[in-house]
Amino acid sequence: MKLCRFDEDRLGVVEGDRVRDVTPALEALPRVSYPLPRLDPLIANLALVRERIAAVITSAPRRPLAEVRLLSPVANPGKIAAAPVNYRKHLDEARGDPAIHHQNQVGEIQRVGLFLKATSSLVGPSEGVAVQHPDRRNDHEVELAVVIGKAGRNIARASAMEYVAGYCIGLDMTVRGPEERSLRKSVDSYTVLGPCFVTADELRDPTRLELSLSVNGEPRQKANTRDLILGIPELIAFATSFYTLHPGDVLLTGTPEGVGPVQAGDRMLAEIEGIGRMEVAVRAAR
Ligand code: MN
Repeated sequence: MKLCRFDEDRLGVVEGDRVRDVTPALEALPRVSYPLPRLDPLIANLALVRERIAAVITSAPRRPLAEVRLLSPVANPGKIAAAPVNYRKHLDEARGDPAIHHQNQVGEIQRVGLFLKATSSLVGPSEGVAVQHPDRRNDHEVELAVVIGKAGRNIARASAMEYVAGYCIGLDMTVRGPEERSLRKSVDSYTVLGPCFVTADELRDPTRLELSLSVNGEPRQKANTRDLILGIPELIAFATSFYTLHPGDVLLTGTPEGVGPVQAGDRMLAEIEGIGRMEVAVRAAR
């Protein structure tokens, strides 16, 4: 199933180029009160919501997908963890280009591990990316985003995929510069998730997906998830050897080679096989 959030926090099921408005299914969610749990309620209660969707979908109104404003499919991730350099060719590219590495040491992922992006950086495709520090390079990074479905710590590689709820396309936007990654990648709107959330039962093999990104029609990145240095089970095992992953936590699996700058007025088109394509506009921050 492909779920999306759209317009004023409506819930949709994507069917080809249409979306079914199944917002009433959100009534299955338990009421939450202060203090809020460290999870995304929709992802944590996905089975309940899907049962309710099944009950309402045949009478759900349909809208053309192109006419709705897509929001981040995960509204409230507790954290956004990301793999810094997880494709061999991007490692070579980052080490070879001073405009990317800025004298920061670019180490192997096995040594440097993961970093975190502020959850306040998260937007959906319709909200676009607002470039901060336009005097610097602001780069696109297209990545397969993994959404965690249940809480786990010290998860073994062999059982890691049981913790995956589904997948989105992710953009890990980045201001290049000498500062820590977590700062440069946490600018408001510098994490884009969309166009939908594909449940793990629909996308059974995430290990060989074509992914690509173009800017204003010009191809920039094109790769396949088979070339990930650390695969999804390895990333989950690594992450949870340090911290608990909770339902709705997002794991950005790293970007392939071909990262490059965008500026206000550009349009990015990101595509991942089995998930879909999303167009994201770039504008100047106020
Ligand atoms: Mn990245």
